[in-house]
Amino acid sequence: QEPLISVRNLKKHFEVGKGAVLTAVDGISFDIYPGETFGLVGESGCGKSTAGRTIIRLYDATDGEVHFNGKNIFELSRHEMNEVRKDFQMIFQDPYASLNPRMTVEDIIAEPFQIHGIYKNKKEMRQKVIELLETVGLNDEHAMRFPHEFSGGQRQRIGIARALALNPKFIVCDEPISALDVSIQAQVVNILKDLQDKMGLTYMFIAHDLSMVRYISDRVGVMYLGHMMELAASEELYDNPLHPYTKALLSAIPIPEPEIQRNRQRIILEGDVPSPINPKEGCRFVDRCSYAIDKCRQVTPEFREVQENHFAACHRIGEI
Ligand code: SF4
Ligand code: MG
Repeated sequence: QEPLISVRNLKKHFEVGKGAVLTAVDGISFDIYPGETFGLVGESGCGKSTAGRTIIRLYDATDGEVHFNGKNIFELSRHEMNEVRKDFQMIFQDPYASLNPRMTVEDIIAEPFQIHGIYKNKKEMRQKVIELLETVGLNDEHAMRFPHEFSGGQRQRIGIARALALNPKFIVCDEPISALDVSIQAQVVNILKDLQDKMGLTYMFIAHDLSMVRYISDRVGVMYLGHMMELAASEELYDNPLHPYTKALLSAIPIPEPEIQRNRQRIILEGDVPSPINPKEGCRFVDRCSYAIDKCRQVTPEFREVQENHFAACHRIGEI
């Protein structure tokens, strides 16, 4: 199967002062296949959101390539990119911040139509807005209200309806449930899954919480300080984590199956993610890794396929 999105050596750096460069995303490569959910996890500050935004060209990349439908989108003309824009959407963590408080729900959802000049006829447009509201479990009575009149879960539905307006193919979901009550999270996840089946959507699902991502994602990539540390099918990653960072993230969540719990080493992740400014050569995880050896400080481990369809970047795979 051909990938829908191919990311190759993608970098996004920010200059943050005299000679200081924040390497938010620092050379990641992976593929996303049509119809799948690709989970991207890691603690906050690891570059996940920046990666998502750079992949859909909301940010200009510093280096690397992103292929969509076989074309490098960084080489598209403005006109070609405008067309591709319709295929990409984003759903945000805080739906309140991303919805204009002075606009009615109808205007919020219809805005993409206005921007792309899609409906000339107001009645037709209204009909489409109501269809979209119904798709996410709302209805025409909600159309003339304002965002503050809705609960967090409803606002996220409005954000999803808006994201669907232009029939996208690929949606970056940036922690879309992290700000919601646990009781509401499953509802929003179910809506996203439903829509995926009905509309053939492909998702990149960003999260810091590994427990949720497991159920949502087909494959999961683990990011740390701008680098990809491990990538595998969701079950494989959870049952057979190879990278010390993944093991540490996993040992932070309780597991219902005692057998897996027994086989899993407890690794406590101490301290915070170090600063991603002017990082040194070597493994980015070295200061927090209990398996580190001298080589880890000198040589950056290569991200490679260590088992079939299971990728990791660590010098000590197979020893630990
Ligand atoms: Fe730990 Fe070294 Fe592997 Fe990095 S390369 S995760 S420091 S053992
Ligand atoms: Mg983020």
